[in-house]
Amino acid sequence: MTTVGILGGGQLARMMALAGAPLGLRFSVMDTSADACAGQFAPLVVGDYRDGVALAEFASGIDIATFDFENVPAESAQWLCERVPMFPNPRALGTTQDRLAEKTLFGELGIPVPGYVPVDTREDLDAAVAKLGAPCILKTRRLGYDGKGQFRIRAAGDAGAAWDALGAQAGAGGLILEAFVPFERELSVVAVRARDGEFRTWPLTENWHVDGVLSASLAPARVAPELEARAVDYARALAEALDYVGVFALELFCHDGRLLANELAPRVHNSGHWSIEGAETSQFGNHLRAVLGLPLGATRALGRACMLNWIGEMPSPGPVLAEPGGHWHDYGKTSRPGRKVGHATLRADSDEDLADALERVGAALGREAQVAPVLARLCDPL
Ligand code: ATP
Ligand code: MG
Ligand code: MG
Repeated sequence: MTTVGILGGGQLARMMALAGAPLGLRFSVMDTSADACAGQFAPLVVGDYRDGVALAEFASGIDIATFDFENVPAESAQWLCERVPMFPNPRALGTTQDRLAEKTLFGELGIPVPGYVPVDTREDLDAAVAKLGAPCILKTRRLGYDGKGQFRIRAAGDAGAAWDALGAQAGAGGLILEAFVPFERELSVVAVRARDGEFRTWPLTENWHVDGVLSASLAPARVAPELEARAVDYARALAEALDYVGVFALELFCHDGRLLANELAPRVHNSGHWSIEGAETSQFGNHLRAVLGLPLGATRALGRACMLNWIGEMPSPGPVLAEPGGHWHDYGKTSRPGRKVGHATLRADSDEDLADALERVGAALGREAQVAPVLARLCDPL
């Protein structure tokens, strides 16, 4: 019996544990919160990731380690990987938890990125805004997620407010200013690389964010094959450069036919949740296969799928469950504004059937605005 240890005990760890049950796996989860929702399915070690005692307790009960969360301190990841096999490796984690290191790697591999300037002082910020022009976005280099740690600068005069909001974090890990990309679409490549280097991707996913948080995903995205091939090439180059093992997501902006890399999430990803019911093998199943050295499963889509995130509180499940291709995921979390508490996936064999199901669910739940961009895309694919 193999026990997989997961650092981070949120919904990603929870869905990984659910996917691992048929493989006969056991799980142990470490999280800073005793409420971590993966703890409902797996023993939970509660402690700070820098707490040597908690980390040693976690390490003693597992055969192999992985992550549901990229911000585990580099020293803790290094300590753990000297004791148990760990995938992805600490270098992949270290590079992708710092937006500057990540963008530097993108550049080295010839992957285009939005214009950016590192910012450490208020003077740096003024010079960076003058260089990139407004609008632009000031971000913390580290620890951001769901749009947290970001400030949108609409005009040069907003620089002071941006510094007031984030300047305190300039000393702790640094800041980065990015040009705002007026993209037509956001896409992600969810990919998996096995221990022997085999590389597979799920069909490209189109994503819609609201206030920096993922709201809806549609897969397979309707994009030109040439664009998809380029996105897959970028993902493969990154996986090889990082000697990556496991699932990751590369987030991309599509603007004027160009693909610009936003960030790489070194873990299973919200934009891959549709694969649980919408693909032959889910991102969670293939992540486990990859880290355990098992053969990878096929990543082909089973028809078309749309994932809707539930943010803040769960809606009523009835309308989704009444759909022939409706699937419900309640993460067992308490409601809190802005918190991801669950999602639904609608799967169908055609665009028409998917659009009909989305319209019914959107109307029944009062979520017309959430489904609207997906419906618009289904009506006007390219
Ligand atoms: P995640 O939860 O995906 O890790 P995050 O906090 O790391 O999110 P980003 O992915 O950097 O944040 O940004 C969140 C969203 O904000 C993006 O998906 C995109 O919609 C928007 N955004 C971020 N950077 C830019 C940019 N340079 N130009 C335009 N939009 C952007
Ligand atoms: Mg991120
Ligand atoms: Mg992101």
